[in-house]
Amino acid sequence: MRLSPILELSAALLSILLAFFFRSSNIFFKLPANLSFQVPVNLTSDYGRIIHGAPAAVLRPSSPVDISLLLKSIYSSPLYDEVTVAARGAGHSTHGQALAPGGFVVDMRSLPLSITIVDGDGTSYVDAAGGALWIDVLNETLRHGLSPRSWTDYLYLTVGGTLSVGGISGQTFKQGPQISNVVEMDVVTGKGEIVECSERENSDLFHGVLGGLGQLGIITRARIKLRPAPPMVAWIRVKHHDFEQFTRHGELVVNAGEVDYLEGFIKFGDAPHSHQPEDAFSRFGAERCVKPRQPTAYYLLEMAIYYDDDDVSDAARKRAKVLARVSSMTSVEILEVSYLDFLNRVREEELSLRRVGLWNVPHPWMNLFVPRSQIRSFHDLLLRTMSDSCINGPILVWNLNTSIVVPQDEAGEDVFYVVGVLRAAPPTCTVGTSCLDRLMQQNERMIRMATARGSSQDGGGMGAKQYMPYLEGEEEWREHFGPKWKRFEELKAKFDPLNVLAPGQRIFKRKK
Ligand code: FAD
Repeated sequence: MRLSPILELSAALLSILLAFFFRSSNIFFKLPANLSFQVPVNLTSDYGRIIHGAPAAVLRPSSPVDISLLLKSIYSSPLYDEVTVAARGAGHSTHGQALAPGGFVVDMRSLPLSITIVDGDGTSYVDAAGGALWIDVLNETLRHGLSPRSWTDYLYLTVGGTLSVGGISGQTFKQGPQISNVVEMDVVTGKGEIVECSERENSDLFHGVLGGLGQLGIITRARIKLRPAPPMVAWIRVKHHDFEQFTRHGELVVNAGEVDYLEGFIKFGDAPHSHQPEDAFSRFGAERCVKPRQPTAYYLLEMAIYYDDDDVSDAARKRAKVLARVSSMTSVEILEVSYLDFLNRVREEELSLRRVGLWNVPHPWMNLFVPRSQIRSFHDLLLRTMSDSCINGPILVWNLNTSIVVPQDEAGEDVFYVVGVLRAAPPTCTVGTSCLDRLMQQNERMIRMATARGSSQDGGGMGAKQYMPYLEGEEEWREHFGPKWKRFEELKAKFDPLNVLAPGQRIFKRKK
């Protein structure tokens, strides 16, 4: 939360005191030389603009050794017994996850941008620095006719940042999340050790760091599986008016495995009849106030088929097959775009939102995995809860088969839906205003009802899980992790025993 002016002043004074303290203690302990005590404002919050907190200092590492030096000093010295450290990638978290108020932020973007193609056992890989943006990884691999297999919708996020949370998108149903496309990493643990890990070597660290919310170590390099890059993409949107038909079609397509990408959206208002293709395919959208009322809801199933320019007939055959499955009583729009333009589709929208001052605004986002049996109830809850609010931003709803994403689903269901309510608050709705509070309260209410245990029929919840959750503390995290908590706690004790890393996730309290 934003601090009151008096608290902000004392936080600033505290930073100055800490700066003096760190500087003088540097005489006794070997902190890296490139620590900066001048913290730029853009490192004191994140894309969410809901949580604010200035670090005492920023480390701009020139190599993993700098990070190791910092963490070793903190681990071994009682002088730093309250100090925490957060790696910061692109800072595109929405609830302060990459902040370390009063501690150190490690700016991963300052590591050298090393992106190298590696060949081995008949497969190609890319070795990418933890602070590299996915767009840089894509541009470099495309020069070799190759590409990573699994993506996020937006590419201006870092490799380390998305591997710390999971990394999902419309390719996930086929290729798994980004974390299951990594075969090896270099990690600096909370104790400052630089460790190479993989399935075979230091496998507990390897599995713990992937999706580990930055709790066990800082990823400085990841080796990621590649595939030949398809030059072209048929990008298809099929409009539905009926939610049941929309979900049935989404499940049919995923089961048949004929497309390379599938996502879905709930939209409100009149669907455009004639338009420029860019408008029809935009997700963040031109923002006018549209209220999520049931009679105006419609559903877009978005799919993509990759193809070679010299194999157009194969693409046409595949497309015809898919459309035969899903297009009864619906309208269909198709764009033919390059693979790069398809993957980088959100960038154009970012730039246009920036131009009208709607990118750097608060983003009270909510992401959930909802079991298939509950998706209709969740849809109704969503429309009920938000019926009086303008929708600025996409609402995503799409299906995944559990087996490809998580080995064991607690709800015992084999299909779940990814739901992303990615709202932008109007620029005047800043922290402390009732309009932002209202949006946050709506999210809290939906999250509470969706994540409670039991079924909605017996008055309980829907058995949903949050993706990238913002939780209060250890108790709530314990509940979130369920049976996996014990293992996570053991790994934390092994690799970051003093709970120095990623305090913004609010999982473990710093130990002295
Ligand atoms: P940051 O916000 O900088 O950090 C996130 C967390 O990871 C922090 O706890 C931080 O301490 C830790 N961390 C950062 N770097 C490292 C590292 N090298 N090693 C260890 N820990 C580290 N997510 C999806 O899965 N799919 C999507 O399609 C998707 N689309 C998005 C679109 C937009 C416009 C935005 C803003 C976010 C989207 N996200 C999506 C969410 C995004 O993947 C996560 O917020 C991700 O963590 C952001 O990466 P980052 O580099 O900005 O990380």
